[in-house]
Amino acid sequence: TGERPMVADGGLDVPEKFYRIDKFPGYTKIALFRLAAEKLRIDDPYFICHEGVAGATTTVGGRSMLNFSSYNYLGLSGDSRVSAAVKAAIDRYGTSLAAAPRVAGEVAVVRELETAIAGLYGVDDAVTFASGHVTNVNTIGFLFGPKDLIIHDQLVHNSVIEGVRLSGAARRAFPHNDPAALDRLLTEIRGNFERVLVVIEGLYSMDGDSPALASFVEIKRRHRAFLMVDEAHSLGVLGSSGRGIHEHCGVPAGDVDIWMGTLSKSFAGCGGFIAGEQALVDLIRYAAPGYNASVGLAPALAAASSAVIRIMLDEPWRLEQLRAAGRYFLEQARLRGMNTGLSEGYCVVPLITGSSLKAVSLSKKLARQGISVQPIIHPAVEERLARLRFFICYAHTQTQIDHTLDEIARCR
Ligand code: PMP
Repeated sequence: TGERPMVADGGLDVPEKFYRIDKFPGYTKIALFRLAAEKLRIDDPYFICHEGVAGATTTVGGRSMLNFSSYNYLGLSGDSRVSAAVKAAIDRYGTSLAAAPRVAGEVAVVRELETAIAGLYGVDDAVTFASGHVTNVNTIGFLFGPKDLIIHDQLVHNSVIEGVRLSGAARRAFPHNDPAALDRLLTEIRGNFERVLVVIEGLYSMDGDSPALASFVEIKRRHRAFLMVDEAHSLGVLGSSGRGIHEHCGVPAGDVDIWMGTLSKSFAGCGGFIAGEQALVDLIRYAAPGYNASVGLAPALAAASSAVIRIMLDEPWRLEQLRAAGRYFLEQARLRGMNTGLSEGYCVVPLITGSSLKAVSLSKKLARQGISVQPIIHPAVEERLARLRFFICYAHTQTQIDHTLDEIARCR
């Protein structure tokens, strides 16, 4: 900017942008966004404060609203049985693991969760982290290095990209949900690298569509690559018993090398996991810095997700109801001529508005009508694909969905 402050104290003559936080490029962008919102009289749509459990409905500013902004897919955050398990774990273990498991030791309730997760997949073992994002960054960042290639669907979550950056591996993206394009790319470049990791999601978080898992397994085998599947939005959503994309596609879980998931969606907690063969889990537990130099999952959160797994397996109707609500939302939106992009209607249905401004303004109009849904705008998605993203949960009723879609049609 050419700003050169007076240097009165004999210090170096350094431009302000190099020593002031409010001059960081990211902050300048936020300031511009706020200014534009102020001019257009649009309130900041982010960081709204929920005053109770956020499920099919929520309370904001003392007002009850229909809620499509939360991942509480199975409605089990707020379930009295889950809350009771959490309270019992706090009474028994306190609120923190108070150090990394390798240093401080483990608690049974966390190991029970890891065993239950491994059981869902029928794989050797699982290991949990205190956050889902941290799980991807640290696992990918730790396992792979500069001689390796990480090749991922173009729409994978930011945590995968951050993990690749940490690893120093080469990164390539293949067109969304296109196994043939992945195959072609691997044929062209596989030979230039040592290890190759292919990363896909079980259900894409912005679009609500799923991969043909068997094709990816076949391709990774032929190219001697590893396959990692991020199940943040598919575990506890897809499959007759909620076991995720492998159950949905009828593919043995052992065909995937690295299963990753989060505890913050269907599993009503906070944290992430990696599941797979024993060597993978041991490697992370003994050697990954993001695991063994960081505090372990809080016992109470492990208790929450363990309780969810028990309830999910006992009450499969929750999954059916969730998927029926998602299907109904999608069908009805399409009937009204809305652009729902690639969604298959499970728990994520976007409504493409085509511009960030339209997305923000529609979200605000809906909020005034008592409907909470978040705009997803550039750079999270391309500007022409800006959208409102609806998270569906098992408790959304047809009446609530009809009302929401009617309000959208009216507000537009
Ligand atoms: N992977 C995917 C696909 C996600 O959508 C998210 C978060 N929404 C994460 C990883 C990170 O999980 P968490 O929010 O639990 O840290």
